[in-house]
Parts: sequence; structure tokens; C-alpha cells
Amino acid sequence: MEHFDVIIIGAGPAGSCAGAMLAQAGKRVLCLEKQHFPRFSIGESLLPHCMEFLTAAGMTSALQQQAESLGFQFKNGAAFLKNDIRTAFDFTDKFSPGPGTTFQVKRAAFDKLLADAAAEQGLQIRYGVTVQHCDHLQAQQAVLTVSDENNSQYQLSAGFILDASGFGRVLPRLLDLELPSDFPVRQACFCHIRDNISDGRFDRNKILITVHSSLSDVWFWLIPFSDGTASLGVVGKQQRFDSALSATDNLWQHIRQTPELAELLAQATPVNEVQTLTGYSANVRTLHGNNFALLGNAGEFLDPVFSSGVTIALRSAAMAVPLVLRQLNGDTPDWEAQYSKPLRKGIDTFRTFVTAWYDGRFQDVIFSEKRQAKITAMISAILAGYAWDQANPYVAEPERRLNVLRELCLDVD
Ligand code: FAD
Repeated sequence: MEHFDVIIIGAGPAGSCAGAMLAQAGKRVLCLEKQHFPRFSIGESLLPHCMEFLTAAGMTSALQQQAESLGFQFKNGAAFLKNDIRTAFDFTDKFSPGPGTTFQVKRAAFDKLLADAAAEQGLQIRYGVTVQHCDHLQAQQAVLTVSDENNSQYQLSAGFILDASGFGRVLPRLLDLELPSDFPVRQACFCHIRDNISDGRFDRNKILITVHSSLSDVWFWLIPFSDGTASLGVVGKQQRFDSALSATDNLWQHIRQTPELAELLAQATPVNEVQTLTGYSANVRTLHGNNFALLGNAGEFLDPVFSSGVTIALRSAAMAVPLVLRQLNGDTPDWEAQYSKPLRKGIDTFRTFVTAWYDGRFQDVIFSEKRQAKITAMISAILAGYAWDQANPYVAEPERRLNVLRELCLDVD
């Protein structure tokens, strides 16, 4: 049986970054990826905070060099539209230190770029290999049973397993770690379009989040790329979608009900089929065990509204790797205190804002006309991904601060 220091399940952003960092530290690391790259994935709008982890993983120079040719769009903020109210947050004008710009990426090309950059640093990646079983997690090493595309099964062992399998959720399923999310079942219908937008108010350097004209818990993303195409999607509770309609009709029916967005997209043409994803929010009982840890979406996934998924995935990788290295050196790191709790703190910040987005409190703040600049910078920092910066009062006490701010915004307006 082949043995590795670490086996990583999945070569998405979390897996590639963790793999690159472990390879940099001289470890023998294998990543098992069931698909072949490039492959489509959703999650195209990055947050500036994630650039710090891409830099640590030695990936930013490849990203900067290839961004233009791959159609990646420079991004410096988020714009919001509700009926005729428009507002925007500039991430370069934010409270927390760190990068203020990033990219909107086509994930097929982005994930391949990261995986190739990790492979150059020494990560072995086997594509077309699916992890099926995991054993011996109580002993010194874990054993994975995998199958390749010829359906032949074989076993591999490792001192540590990092599960970065995203929505595949390999170890949560195999080890019975799944917990239901506390969010309702929501659905997304999405596609790529050639947007043909000529409206000068549309800023291609920002993601545009539009609220449905009459259903405030339904919203659209419009993520422009640099080649004139864009990612377009609608999100809402499952019951907001008509099961008798196709995904395409559901998407465009919601858009037609939202005149400002319909006008913006009047000349848009489809680039690919509309796809549907339902019930993507997920949670787990624990993010770690004897010789494994869960990264990114294999752990908890909240909601797409603030584009936090890839940032959480990369942050989880950067936090887990030093602990894996210590454990491989015979140390016994406290995974709960040093990984799970601090990671979940930032996730909980996002959770507060996601909850408040859907119940309308955060929309009241975002669309208020008289927000103070200092407070806008604090909110901007969170929207830029800096949800772990305890110096930001809206991170330290998100619920209380948000409620007070909302009252102020309502009073002022
Ligand atoms: P993934 O990117 O999902 O990668 C996991 C990899 O594991 C895949 O390549 C898969 O093939 C592989 N795998 C799975 N099972 C197995 C197995 N058994 N064996 C081997 N390999 C396996 N995030 C953002 O940051 N910005 C956004 O704008 C955004 N929009 C979103 C919109 C929607 C509708 C949804 C649902 C999510 C969105 N997200 C967004 C979240 C984002 O998609 C994820 O958070 C992100 O891709 C997680 O990265 P990851 O590395 O954890 O997993």
C-alpha cells in the first residue's frame, strides 16, 4: 500500500492551497480528485481577503499573469440594487488591513490554475480517482479505499487526511458527521451570459447584487468577467421557484419581475444552459477528528449572498496546515481551540449578516442613504472577507452592532 504524509480529498481551492502549503514544507502529499480539470464549478466572485492565502500558497503570480487571458475580471467591491436604489461598497476603502481588490473568476480555469500551481510546488494530484471509504482513523494512520475510472479499487494510507471535497462532503458522509444547516432550503438557478450591457451605471469592477422587486428574500447575482460574459443567478427559498417551469424559465421569470435588472439585461444572450442547485447549505458536528480535518465546503457552507465560500475554504486551508505539520512531527495540537473555534468565529460573523440579509435588517443598512463613512468602511471590510478581524466592532459584536446600526439607519431615513 502506498503511504503519504497527507492525503487531500478534492482539488478545489481548499485542496490545492492546502496541498501547495504542505508541499512547500517538504511533505509527501497526494490529492485525489474525482473529476478531470478544467471542470465547471460555481463560486466565481472572490473576496480580497482570499488573496492573502493565495499569496501564502505561492499562487498569486500565476493568477496575476494569466487573469487577463482567462477572462478574469478585476474586482474592487460590491454594488447593490433594490428597485431604483443603487449603492456600492468599495473594498479599497475598508476598515481592516489587507488587500482591497481581487478577481471574479471562471472557476473551471481558476481551479485548474491553482491545481497546476500546487502541482508545480510538489503536490501529486491524481484525477479521475474517487474516494469511497475511510478506515483506521483511531490508529496512527488512515486508510482510504479509492476507485479509478476503470472501476478498479485500491487502498492508500496517510498520516493525516484533509477532506476538501466541497459539496461531495466525503468524510461527513462516511463518518456520519452531517448536521442540518440552520438556514432554510434555498435554490439557485444560474448560467453564463454574454451580457451586452451598455448602461454606464454598471461597474464591471464590482459584483452586482439585485433584490427582487417584490420578494425581498429573493436576489440575483451578476458577476461580470473581462471578456464581455457574466455569471447570472437567482437565489431564493425552494418554494419561490415554480417546479412546473424549467430552470431557464424560472430564472428569466424572476428577472422579468425585477424591471431594473430586466432593463440592464435586455440585450443579454445565453452562453450555456441554466443549471439548478438546491439545498446547498450544510453543517457538521465537528471539523476534526483523530487524524483528519475538514476544509472549506466539506465542513460548513452558509449561503452564496456575500461570496464568502472560497475565502472560507482558503482560510480553513491556511489555518489547518500548520496544525497538520505539528501533528506529523509528533505534537498534539488542540484542533478545537486552534482550528475549529477560530475558524467558526468568522463563519459566525458571516452567518449574522446572511441571516440579517434575508430578514431584511442588513438590506435596511445597505440601502440606507446616510451611512457614515467610518461605519461603511467597517461593513466594507466584512464584505471584503475580513470577518475574523476582532478589531472591527461589527466582527466583535455583529448582532448587537448591526441591530443598533439598523435602528440608526431607519431613524435617519
Ligand atoms: P470545491 O470547490 O467544491 O471542490 C471540491 C472538489 O472535491 C471538487 O473538485 C470535487 O470534484 C472533489 N470531490 C468531491 N467528492 C470527491 C470524492 N469522493 N473523491 C475525490 N474528489 C472528490 N463562493 C464564493 O467565494 N464566491 C461566490 O460567488 C460563490 N457563489 C456561490 C453560488 C452558489 C449558488 C453556491 C451554492 C455556492 C457559491 N459559492 C461561492 C461557494 C463556493 O462554490 C464554495 O464555497 C467553494 O467552491 C468551496 O471550495 P472547496 O475547495 O471547499 O470545494
